[in-house]
Amino acid sequence: MLRLPPFRYLAPGTIEQAVAMLAGEGEQAMLVAGGTDLYPNMKRRQFTPPVLIGLRGIAALKSIDGSPEQGMRIGAGVTLTTLAEHPLIQQHYPALATASAAVSTPQLRNAGTIGGNVLLDTRCNYYNQTEFWRHSIGYCMKKDGDICLVAPGSPRCWAISSADTAPVLVTLDAQVRLVSVRGERVIPVRQLFQDDGMHPYTKAADEILTEILLPPADGWRSAYIKLRRRGSFDFPILGVAAALRLAADGTVADARLTLGAVASHPLEVNDAVARLVGQRPTPQLLEEVAALAAKRARPLDNADLTINYRKQVTPVYIRRALHELLEV
Ligand SMILES: Cc1cc2nc3c(=O)[nH]c(=O)nc-3n(C[C@H](O)[C@H](O)[C@H](O)COP(=O)(O)OP(=O)(O)OC[C@H]3O[C@@H](n4cnc5c(N)ncnc54)[C@H](O)[C@@H]3O)c2cc1C
Ligand code: SF4
Repeated sequence: MLRLPPFRYLAPGTIEQAVAMLAGEGEQAMLVAGGTDLYPNMKRRQFTPPVLIGLRGIAALKSIDGSPEQGMRIGAGVTLTTLAEHPLIQQHYPALATASAAVSTPQLRNAGTIGGNVLLDTRCNYYNQTEFWRHSIGYCMKKDGDICLVAPGSPRCWAISSADTAPVLVTLDAQVRLVSVRGERVIPVRQLFQDDGMHPYTKAADEILTEILLPPADGWRSAYIKLRRRGSFDFPILGVAAALRLAADGTVADARLTLGAVASHPLEVNDAVARLVGQRPTPQLLEEVAALAAKRARPLDNADLTINYRKQVTPVYIRRALHELLEV
């Protein structure tokens, strides 16, 4: 049995208390929401924070407000189950409901939050292993070692952004609010991510993600399709988040596409789907656009299934996502 390392647990009741505790404890402390990512990682000794600040008791993080006309506000502590079952999210931001419902298992979605999902640690076959396993192969630079075992000549870590909701939020053009004792800022969610498997987030250590802001639905259709080994539960090895809206004459007015689980950050391929704009899509055009977008995904040998298979199915999944939106 894998046991948690010892830690002190602090339970703030408000955001103000939480940011003060985080500032007071310094970089040794970590935040925990549902704990469905962090606790397994602590058991495997990827993280051994002496202090955990639990966000579960903060009511302000748990609500969903707003409207599809004005835009919606989702508290970072809203569970994935709540989000997946929310009627306005299902109807107006369907990709987000689909992605939330596709995360892991019902039990984990009941505990796991949208904030924890967005800030999920990046994943790799050589990293998401027990301490004993990692010790036996000499560790890697993401934790306790100094080389990358996937690409030994590489100066960087290629661990993968594997959160189902992350590519969707990027494609929906969402924003996030980050709060610390120094103040607060709202940034586009795409700016929260960076292409670095070891440091995948631009969030400062003393900042708490408090809410996600969705723009008005404004005619945008959206879809999310996920490739994984087992349909019942598994992390994505490809996530396709597509969104577009049509003009009155049936041509495509705007289109956005983001790929998950193919890089250390959600990979935007909007330039490829821009070819749809002004067009009345045909199956052949969708095929061309999907092939173009798929070229940007360069899967490495650090996730489930073979690279070759993942490369081959990428355009297929992109095409399916676009078909779902256009019914051509
Ligand atoms: C068996 C299994 C299968 C899984 N399958 C999937 C899957 O298919 N897809 C998927 O996306 N995920 C999957 N997960 C991972 C996890 O369940 C989800 O990503 C979940 O949404 C994480 O949310 P949480 O609230 O539990 O995060 P936590 O574990 O509490 O936190 C995750 C990280 O986010 C930070 N954090 C959390 N909330 C905040 C906040 N408000 N502000 C700042 N930092 C914060 C924590 O410090 C930590 O670093 C799986 C996990 C397991 C164990
Ligand atoms: S990509 Fe390389 S450095 Fe990063 S977790 Fe995997 S083996 Fe380690």
